[in-house]
Amino acid sequence: MIVTAPPSTGFRRRGRLAIVCLTLLGLIPFAAAAAGPSKRQMAQIEGQLRQHVTTLASDEYGGREPGTPGETLTLRYLARQWFDIGLESGTNDPGNTWFAPVELVEREPQSSRAQFFHGKRRVALAEDSYFVVTSGLRSLIENAPLVYVGRNPGGEGVRTELAGRVALVLDSEAAPPEPAKPGPGNAAAARPAVDRAGQLLDSGAAAVLTVLDGERTLEDVMARRRRAGYALSGERIGGDIEAFITPEGARQLLASAGGLDLAALKLVGAAPGFSARPLGLAASLEATNRETRIKTHNLIGKLEGRRPGSGAVVLMAHWDHFGKCAAPPAEDLVCNGAVDNASGLAVITEVARQLSAGKPLDRDVYLVATTGEELGLLGALAFAENPPLPLGSVVAAFNVDSTGLVPAGLPVSVVGQGMTRLDAGIAKVLKGLKRKLAAGDAANAFARRQDSWMLMQHDVPSVMVSTSYSDPARLEAFMDNVYHRPSDAAASVVYGGMVDDVLIQTELLRFFADVKAWPGTGPAAGLAAGAK
Ligand SMILES: [Zn+2]
Repeated sequence: MIVTAPPSTGFRRRGRLAIVCLTLLGLIPFAAAAAGPSKRQMAQIEGQLRQHVTTLASDEYGGREPGTPGETLTLRYLARQWFDIGLESGTNDPGNTWFAPVELVEREPQSSRAQFFHGKRRVALAEDSYFVVTSGLRSLIENAPLVYVGRNPGGEGVRTELAGRVALVLDSEAAPPEPAKPGPGNAAAARPAVDRAGQLLDSGAAAVLTVLDGERTLEDVMARRRRAGYALSGERIGGDIEAFITPEGARQLLASAGGLDLAALKLVGAAPGFSARPLGLAASLEATNRETRIKTHNLIGKLEGRRPGSGAVVLMAHWDHFGKCAAPPAEDLVCNGAVDNASGLAVITEVARQLSAGKPLDRDVYLVATTGEELGLLGALAFAENPPLPLGSVVAAFNVDSTGLVPAGLPVSVVGQGMTRLDAGIAKVLKGLKRKLAAGDAANAFARRQDSWMLMQHDVPSVMVSTSYSDPARLEAFMDNVYHRPSDAAASVVYGGMVDDVLIQTELLRFFADVKAWPGTGPAAGLAAGAK
């Protein structure tokens, strides 16, 4: 799901945009939910959406990869749109108006070495029987004893047994990983449900050596780990070492020490009260990564409310995608990301146009186009860690990711339903619009795979509301055939549901930006409003 990015080509532009006002085509905002928009207004919204998607998902934009000329084109296009609509810079940083710098580091595995010992004697294993990776730049442990830990989940109690040792675990004993089905965004999708290795490392193990005797093969693990990993620059660089070994390699290793074989170990590990067993073996492990820095940006605009200090509402969509994602001889190399997520950018831009042209709102509305979503929700993380406004003042945040999949008129899904205090307010707005909420919470499968998750982790009530997740068949067809592929191009975007999303989001923003409709910023105030 995460595609390795080529090295950054740099990004220079910063500062104020040239002020060029484009005359808009006499757009009239739809006034009140009750009256509803006219056919002509809906056609105008659709025309605008189509223009944004066609532009942002064109080959000229190169798949909108962070740190490339595609970023410059994307952010310049959006900022000009937002400026013309009437937004001002929302970065709250006079040195960096509109474009909030975000620095990413990309780490790619470079080398992997392992040596195993029984006493002083080296146990020679084939090089293709193991793989060593680190989360840091270079990690090395020398001659550390191997200890089998069974199903031991780590914890304070085993700290002395693990300290300075390599914990050996069997993959067949691990909890089953999360289903690998991809969704919009991807960060959480690649991780197993229980991070056993992480728990053991946290409990003091010098490294973890996993015997791949379960469903995963060494090739699976290597393919996943060889993809670049990304992080925000300035995040603590870990130095954890993890190693993986084939069952044949493990058998050879255990035999060299004359101890138990894998099956016997498993029996021992399953015994009640088992915590750890030294294996009479030791390992030296080394892994290095290559590091590249990528300078990229979140675009932040603001529509100022008329009641300063009354809080803010955030509307966001990620602008980044994968750039070139196929290799010759394929003819189409660019992942244009039309649905994912030119569609979301188009929707938030048209919502902003409606809001700006309508009755003034009480609260500030922040429009955020995030970078690095495809690399692990990193732009949203940067926004949350270095916000242009106190996060506690954000009464609601709405993300738009991968719309443009369905025709008009479908029920509305809330990704994050039941996870925030916004549900009651959303229900009220949908009722006013005579829109049906989709039954069940199937859409929550995407909760961790999109930017609002990152805000939720920082206690900002944040959800994704769209009609695009209400048709499982279409969603599945998209995921299986189009998602993160060159075929996610403008030609396949469906606009009816996107127009719906613009109308719905506009009313949601109006509602949550209204201090009477949605009174407070504290959880109690939100609940009180919701309880009515
Ligand atoms: Zn994506």
